[in-house]
Amino acid sequence: MTVETTLSIIKPDAVAAGNIGAILQMISDAGLKIKAMKMVQMSQKEAEGFYAVHKERPFFGELVEFMTSGPAVVSILEGENAIARYRELMGATNPEQAEEGTIRKNFATNIQNNAVHGSDAPETAAVETAYFFSSIEQVN
Ligand code: ATP
Ligand code: MG
Repeated sequence: MTVETTLSIIKPDAVAAGNIGAILQMISDAGLKIKAMKMVQMSQKEAEGFYAVHKERPFFGELVEFMTSGPAVVSILEGENAIARYRELMGATNPEQAEEGTIRKNFATNIQNNAVHGSDAPETAAVETAYFFSSIEQVN
């Protein structure tokens, strides 16, 4: 087992719906430790940069519009196998396929407005955590 860090985003739909507290409780109950956290409202450029891997996808424009539509809560989570464990806690991208007890099952509206983001691999986690946080913003 390796201790990993991963980037979480509570997306604008979940913030607007008042679900920050409930989602943070699920993260805490899952034993993931919060190493950094802040609220941000992404600019178009920031959201385009964050989701650059999806820029050729047909839904890219709408995704950027959604991610800039209101404040989001970004955090760094740490734990053994944190990347896969947080993806499991999030549930499937499409909430219709998400398992019971997952964040997306409980709080996602549809495949786009799906409440949370989590990094999908150590390489993307490293890029994504550095995208939002400097080292001084992370606790040891
Ligand atoms: P995330 O990267 O946000 O953690 P994910 O890894 O489960 O989610 P990706 O395939 O990376 O899913 O897609 C990134 C985001 O783009 C999704 O979380 C969702 O908000 C949006 N998205 C993905 N597929 C679609 C689609 N077919 N239509 C609309 N939006 C989509
Ligand atoms: Mg993804």
